[in-house]
Amino acid sequence: MTAMTSFVYDALPGRILFGEGLAGTVLADELARLGCTRVLAFAGEGERDIAARLLPTLGDVVADVFTGVRMHVPAEVAVAATARARELGVDGLLSVGGGSTTGTAKIVARETGLPVLAVPTTYAGSEVTPVWGLTTDSRKETGRDLAVLPRTVVYDPELTWSLPRPMAVASGLNAMAHSVEALWTEAANPVTSSLAVESVRALAQGLRALADAGDDEVADRAARRDLTYGAYLAGSCFAVAGSGLHHKICHALGGAFDLPHAETHAAVLPYVLAYNAPALGDLADRLGAALGDPDPARGLRTLAAHVGAPSRLADVGLRDDQLAEAVDLVAAKLPIHNPRPLGRDEIAALLAAALHGTEIR
Ligand code: NAD
Repeated sequence: MTAMTSFVYDALPGRILFGEGLAGTVLADELARLGCTRVLAFAGEGERDIAARLLPTLGDVVADVFTGVRMHVPAEVAVAATARARELGVDGLLSVGGGSTTGTAKIVARETGLPVLAVPTTYAGSEVTPVWGLTTDSRKETGRDLAVLPRTVVYDPELTWSLPRPMAVASGLNAMAHSVEALWTEAANPVTSSLAVESVRALAQGLRALADAGDDEVADRAARRDLTYGAYLAGSCFAVAGSGLHHKICHALGGAFDLPHAETHAAVLPYVLAYNAPALGDLADRLGAALGDPDPARGLRTLAAHVGAPSRLADVGLRDDQLAEAVDLVAAKLPIHNPRPLGRDEIAALLAAALHGTEIR
């Protein structure tokens, strides 16, 4: 899989700035660099304090702040935000927040063609992807459009200090799922794989350190720096490599059985990795090194246990009597591109192992 005989890499553009405290000093210059003189800012309820600290440094450049952000970008939110941007006649969009806020700015960019400067405050990674999402009548639609890819991203780990630890862990584990899965998708290539391995290393280090930090503020902040860096890389490789078997399983199960999102990712990922590892060649060794265990799937399970995340589907609420339906739902998505071929029987074995926490072959 890493043999560099030939590959195709659709690299994405974007200017990235990374540093603690950076958001308080660079936003005015970065907006000017994009040619933005008057922007609509976006910040959700939970990001209000962060926005209140950052936006005043921009003076009149901020025409208004759109605060009506909601998870998964409902169509009515997209319409209201787009109307506000048009009404104000702004020439840029500034998002300050997690994936939901970034997603709202992105959908307005899709409608208006305006450039986005993103300042992420979680580890979602949406700020470096050209993927938009929109929910109409409870149906979420996603698509790719370069117009929504933020032109500039300012990563300031300080802005994630206020994320409660359980949320930071959940967000970091989601990023981990993007990185690990990026190793085996159809669009994966040696460059995205290297980004993915480095991302796993940084996220694993950050997650472990966050769990161990206790009252040590310095350790907590160092952990969040690693998580921010790992999340940037995770978003970058997901943006190019996309998703595969793992995300298909999590979406199918999460939707049908109303399982918790981040915990389901944590519970499923080690089993998909255990199934695929024999087909990963030297990437399995590199991943093992990044996770601190020669067996990368065991490394992931150990990490999940360390941060208090569930390590089997039974722990997130899937019941034995739901297994057959779960298999049907995932099998309905076949054929699935995967480094190790799989059909219905393999899906059944994988889900049974993930449900009960048993070994996979
Ligand atoms: P989120 O943006 O919904 O944020 C969760 C909550 O945390 C919100 O209430 C928010 O206000 C609050 N919050 C954010 N930052 C905070 C901080 N620093 N301190 C305290 N509270 C804070 O959650 P998320 O996990 O960042 O994003 C999830 C969304 O992003 C999903 O809709 C997902 O589909 C989308 N997403 C999209 C892509 C993509 O490429 N398009 C990639 C990843 C995620």
